[in-house]
Amino acid sequence: MKILVAEDEPDMAGFIARGLVDEQYSVDIAATGPEALSYAASRPYDLVILDRKLPGKDGLAVCRELRARSVRVPILILTALGNAADVISGLNSGADDYLVKPFDFAVLLARMRALMRRPRDLRPDILEVADLSLNTIDHTVTRAGRPIRLTAKEYALLELLMVYKGQILGRAQISEHAWDEALDPLSNIVDVYMNRLRKKIDGGFAQRLIHTRRSEGYMISSDSTGPVSSTLL
Ligand code: CA
Repeated sequence: MKILVAEDEPDMAGFIARGLVDEQYSVDIAATGPEALSYAASRPYDLVILDRKLPGKDGLAVCRELRARSVRVPILILTALGNAADVISGLNSGADDYLVKPFDFAVLLARMRALMRRPRDLRPDILEVADLSLNTIDHTVTRAGRPIRLTAKEYALLELLMVYKGQILGRAQISEHAWDEALDPLSNIVDVYMNRLRKKIDGGFAQRLIHTRRSEGYMISSDSTGPVSSTLL
C-alpha cells in the first residue's frame, strides 16, 4: 500500500511517515501544493493525506484539481482549522475525510483503514478487461469464467494494471506500488513477475491482454491495435 503525505512541516511529515512505515505502508512526501498535485495525478497511490495549508497551492485547491482530473484516490485532509465551516468546505472540495490537528496517530490509522476499505464507492468491486475479471473483494480472478490462481504479489500487480487499464505503467511506478522495499533500479524483478503473471493470464488464449513496451513498461488492454502500438514479448 502506497501513501502520499502532503505536508510542508518537516517534523509533522516525518512523524506521519515514520508511523506509516512502521505499519508497513510505503510513503512518499510532498512538501508543496504543486508537488502534491503532480505526485497524486501521476502516480498510483492507495490514499493521500493532504495538509490543508500548503505553500504554493492550498490543500483544498489540490483536492479540487485532483477530482477535476478524475483522480479518485481516497483523500484525507489534515488541518489545524477545525470549525464546522472548515470541515464542510474540506469535504465539499472532494475530500473523503477530515482530521483536525493535533490528532492521535491511532485515530489517523483507523480513519485511513476505513477509507481504504471503502474504495467500493470509488472503484468497482469487479474490474474487467475483455473476458478477464478481477474481484477486489475476495481477490479472485477468472478468465473466460475459469478461475486463475495468483500469488499475492501477482494479484497486486494485476489489480494495479486493471485499475489503470489502457495506460502504460512504468517499471518504477509498478515497483513502487507493489514492493515496499526500494528495488535496485537494475533489478529485473518487475519483468520476472510480469512474465509469470502474463503466462497465467494470457497462456492458452488467442487474445493477449498484458502488453509490454520495452522502454516504457506494461499495460493491460483488450485493444492491441489501438493508438498505443504494443510490442508483445
Ligand atoms: Ca502546513
